[in-house]
Amino acid sequence: MGLQVHTKNPASGAGAIAMVARYDRAMQSSPPMDLDEPIRGTMPALARGAAALAKLGITTPREALWYLPFRYDDFSELRALGDLLPDEKQSARVRVDAVRIEPGFGRQPQRVIAQLSDETGSAEAIWFGRRFVERRLRPNDELIVSGKVTQRGWRSQFTSPEFSPVGHESVHTARVVPVYHLAAGVTQKRLRELLARALEAALPAVEDPLTDDERGSLPYLADALRTAHFPEEAADVDAALERLAFDELLALQLALAQGRQARQQLHAPPISVTDAELAEIVGALPFTLTGDQAAVVESVIDDLALDRPMRRLLQGDVGSGKTAVAAVALACAVRAGWQGALMAPTEILARQHHAGLGPLLEGLGVRAEFLSGSLSVARKREIHDAIAAGAAEVVIGTHAVISTAVEFPRLGLVIVDEQHRFGVGQRAALQAKGSGAEPHTLALTATPIPRTLALIVYGDLEISTIRELPPGRQPIRTEIRDRRALPRIEAFLAAEAAEGRQSFVVVPLVMESDALQVASAEAEFERLQAALPQLRIGLVHGQQKAAARDATMSAFAAGEMDVLVATTVIEVGIDVPNATVMLVEDAERFGLAQLHQLRGRVGRGTHRSFCILLSDAADELAMRRLDVVRGSQDGFVIAEADLELRGAGNVLGTRQSGLPPLRVASLFDPRHLALAQRARDLADRVVGDDPTLAGRPALARLQADFAPTEEEGDAA
Ligand code: ADP
Ligand code: MG
Repeated sequence: MGLQVHTKNPASGAGAIAMVARYDRAMQSSPPMDLDEPIRGTMPALARGAAALAKLGITTPREALWYLPFRYDDFSELRALGDLLPDEKQSARVRVDAVRIEPGFGRQPQRVIAQLSDETGSAEAIWFGRRFVERRLRPNDELIVSGKVTQRGWRSQFTSPEFSPVGHESVHTARVVPVYHLAAGVTQKRLRELLARALEAALPAVEDPLTDDERGSLPYLADALRTAHFPEEAADVDAALERLAFDELLALQLALAQGRQARQQLHAPPISVTDAELAEIVGALPFTLTGDQAAVVESVIDDLALDRPMRRLLQGDVGSGKTAVAAVALACAVRAGWQGALMAPTEILARQHHAGLGPLLEGLGVRAEFLSGSLSVARKREIHDAIAAGAAEVVIGTHAVISTAVEFPRLGLVIVDEQHRFGVGQRAALQAKGSGAEPHTLALTATPIPRTLALIVYGDLEISTIRELPPGRQPIRTEIRDRRALPRIEAFLAAEAAEGRQSFVVVPLVMESDALQVASAEAEFERLQAALPQLRIGLVHGQQKAAARDATMSAFAAGEMDVLVATTVIEVGIDVPNATVMLVEDAERFGLAQLHQLRGRVGRGTHRSFCILLSDAADELAMRRLDVVRGSQDGFVIAEADLELRGAGNVLGTRQSGLPPLRVASLFDPRHLALAQRARDLADRVVGDDPTLAGRPALARLQADFAPTEEEGDAA
């Protein structure tokens, strides 16, 4: 049976949970519940629901409190039956005139049908195969019904509505009703009831981690949690979510502020080169640095000279010349007597870095070794020895570079390519490699994010940006096409292949599961093979073994294939100057930054290149988004437009590669961006006074709760 609570004013739609949770703050003297102990012990009333909650990963009262709905159904307004609208979810206060049971036809279940009326008209409610409904309904009952209404001939019909007697509203009717993500074996109704009970029991134990001053106009945490689950009115939800977002952002900012504080105590080897040495190194490059590159080199050289570790993030589009900057920095470190390392997220990227950087560094008089797990044991040992002896001046590789077997006697500078693909733990391990002192780090990323955002989410890093591309880049022609153009597009792929050029075909992104995307990649691979039998076509996806995937990509890079069908595994992938076409299917499903990244796979050589965004999306916003990518080749312009177009409105659980995983806050919501700034100021103040948060246990707890796990960080 549902959670039945008495409401004072049933017709107002006032929330049931409001009554249970409207505890008196002054009465918090009852023994406080430990929100982090198992539900079985802390909430005996929920003991029978514990197994169901556990299926959703909810094992403690705190986890129940933070298991937030992903949307709401607004049943709060009571409609007169005469005013019901078809195809909408609505509530009404009705009288039951009659109840009957109809047999199902064939294999259909029985149906319970109730005739309903009010002063303005009549309607019907129907439930399929639910005899127990009938037992709860009597003629002349006064009910609140909430559910989807459809028009059946001349009458309105509620299909399988929730209902409760007037005066005994449940958490399912006549209110703004939360809708949660479910797991197998747990129904929406059951979960809603369990969470309502959990809130009732746990809310009084919720301590507000903020002082009144810090909180300002935000609601109390307990009130925000209550409202986020069971709002009295739809209009209250925003403020509640804002409060929860603030706490989440504060947790992130506290960690960043502590990181900044801790860095003040760390030591790094000061790496200094004279102006003449720097000029010599830069002069030995086969090209002149662009203005942006030169400015970044200058900041890096300044940072390296300090005895505090540099932690700098260099953002710039693919091909903007980040690697060249890294080469100069590595050469400077080596010239000053230190070793350097460069880590890439995959073997193939590491190899490409070695192939690209190696000659550049050699030109600067520096020897670079390649190290990865795939090398023979003997070869690995050789390189380990060379590193230990200091003979290997720069090591380029995968995370094997930081395996415990590797001993750098003088590690001064580490370059991390695509830093967000590295987990926090890996970075920490690397930093521990610098015996006693921490090496300087320079992280490279081709996923640019707007500066406002970068300051907030990379609060522990200095940020440099390259916007200017090296001279002589070929623009990439970008077009938006729908599926009817496929035959012409295929003919175009064939024509390019006949010219000796190569193409990428990226299959639609599937949010629901990797397996589905792989299936669609395989289907597309087969379709293209049938359509273009004269072409050599390859397939790569994330469920292949890394070795098989790398082999296919290497074959493509070597020109042994004409077309590569791929999932997004190629997003931050290989450099194939001979590839001239990027075809993205169902392009509207991708993030704009992602599309820009994909496009960056072509236009890397001297040939004219093309990006075709295939989309059958009809809605205007989708088209406007794709148009942004078509209209600009500047990753920052695209990132800012993305931020703007997404705007507010997609509040819960936005994920974007390169950003920390957030549960409530959305960095695409300008209001939340402002909250993040406020959280940062507060975190600075609090950590400045009390670096370990010893005097603010509730804040320390908050931070621990929201600390992203390693996998979350990696998946981002
Ligand atoms: P990123 O690492 O940002 O993708 P790279 O450093 O690999 O970019 O540079 C891309 C290409 O441009 C490389 O072939 C590189 O040699 C070349 N390049 C880099 N800087 C310049 C420059 N200032 N002038 C001309 N070519 C450059
Ligand atoms: Mg690069």
